[in-house]
Amino acid sequence: MSVARPSEALLALVHEAQATGTLTGLPDKHLIAGVAQASASGARMETFDAGTGRAFAAFAAGGPEDVDRAVTVAQAALRGPWRDTTPAQRGRILHRVAQLIRSNADRLAVVECLDSGKRLVEAQGDVAGAAGCFEYYAGACDKHEGSSIPLGPDYLAYTLNEPVGVTAHIIPWNYPLSTAARGIAPALAAGCTVVAKPAEQTPLTALMLAEICLQAGLPAGVCNVVTGTGADAGAALVRHPGIHHISFTGSVTTGIHVMQAAAPNITRLVLELGGKSPVVVLADCDMQAAVESVLGAIFENAGQICSAGSRLLVARSIHGEFVQRVADRARALTLGHGLRNPGMGPVSSEAHLRKITGYVERARQRGAEVVCGGRAATDPQTGQGWFFAPTLLDGLQPTDEAVQEEIFGPVLCVQVFDDLDEALALANGTRFALVAGVFTRDFGAAHRLARDIDAGQVYINEYFAGGISVPFGGNRQSGFGREKGLEALRSYSRTKSVAALIT
Ligand code: ADP
Repeated sequence: MSVARPSEALLALVHEAQATGTLTGLPDKHLIAGVAQASASGARMETFDAGTGRAFAAFAAGGPEDVDRAVTVAQAALRGPWRDTTPAQRGRILHRVAQLIRSNADRLAVVECLDSGKRLVEAQGDVAGAAGCFEYYAGACDKHEGSSIPLGPDYLAYTLNEPVGVTAHIIPWNYPLSTAARGIAPALAAGCTVVAKPAEQTPLTALMLAEICLQAGLPAGVCNVVTGTGADAGAALVRHPGIHHISFTGSVTTGIHVMQAAAPNITRLVLELGGKSPVVVLADCDMQAAVESVLGAIFENAGQICSAGSRLLVARSIHGEFVQRVADRARALTLGHGLRNPGMGPVSSEAHLRKITGYVERARQRGAEVVCGGRAATDPQTGQGWFFAPTLLDGLQPTDEAVQEEIFGPVLCVQVFDDLDEALALANGTRFALVAGVFTRDFGAAHRLARDIDAGQVYINEYFAGGISVPFGGNRQSGFGREKGLEALRSYSRTKSVAALIT
């Protein structure tokens, strides 16, 4: 497959970012009612480039007053022109959003790379995915049908899909643009108005997306973004009585807070929380393909993916060879600043790096075999940034903290099984149930595992297979509700049933 040459525009942006450590013209205020607005308190905070460990931009640190302003505006917009926009018109606007994401792709990708630390190619993939997401829901706007219910000749009964109202989107730092897009696009398609709160580590691309929505013709006030910390801006948003639906992606602990904050207002919510997802590798798999998929499953985005394949469950007969092959590939991954497209980029913050290091150190002290990696690092070119070497831990008990807890970094824990029943027991042996991978040529075994593994989705012979049209979400402590696909559109709608006597 040929790799497209980077455009002149992309090279110029990368050059500017590398030469100056930042970019000019970054958004630095909330976007409320179509206008960039400072925080009521005037407070600001900084966002860091994880690849250098340096602050590169400042933005508004919002609080309850800013949130209230945004929710009030979104409530008014719900009653305003957005309500009278036909689904086909909504679809055309969402299509234009997709086009504008594409025409701003280089800038979005470089900003995402600086803000989140991810590799430029991954950021480019996220931008393309965000455009695809708006396109998908653009096409769905005028196909979101209700149903008629046969009550007999004397009655007419039907259902209407109403927008749920004002939706809140609490966005994590690992996929800032993708998560914003996958929540905002279906909410708009369903006719809702939006207040989004990006993570304080990565506020920029959500602001840029809201700006693009305006340029695409979305009426002012339909999509608002308030930046700031979770404690100040996020908590104020999820407890606001003017919010009708919350889409939260983040940690289990914060998810519990969000659920509690939503309870007094009976606000509906979708929670997409953590994972400790198993990748089950059977002895008859295509080993080369499985090794590559396992590698991507844990080291993409430096393992900071809720659906990362962070547990390798491998058949005993191929355990030695398989682990060796994954470790060889992991050792060969270069570390570096995301803009240089290394094998793997940094982790998001110094605090997060300490957390990952702590998990690995404790596992080592408990006797885990550190097959490769196992240490914090810096960008070899600059000596800067927050990196953790790609790591494999073997020889852990199923109850070990490293096997049970979400490390959210480039750390793969190996578990061995003798038969399918044991594989299944190990796969289901944590409190999480987000996704799972299965690698085998045995169709029956694959589908038996797919049936019996407790997970929101199962990937067979390609980890992360799927896309925007495939529903995504977890069970148990991984949360509930589904993002993506037509299910997301339904979750931003509420059903009204109408039944009429017609004689
Ligand atoms: P992490 O611990 O990795 O930062 P969180 O789950 O705390 O993950 O963060 C995910 C998102 O939730 C971020 O946008 C963050 O600002 C937000 N957040 C954090 N605490 C709260 C809260 N109490 N209420 C609402 N949102 C919050």
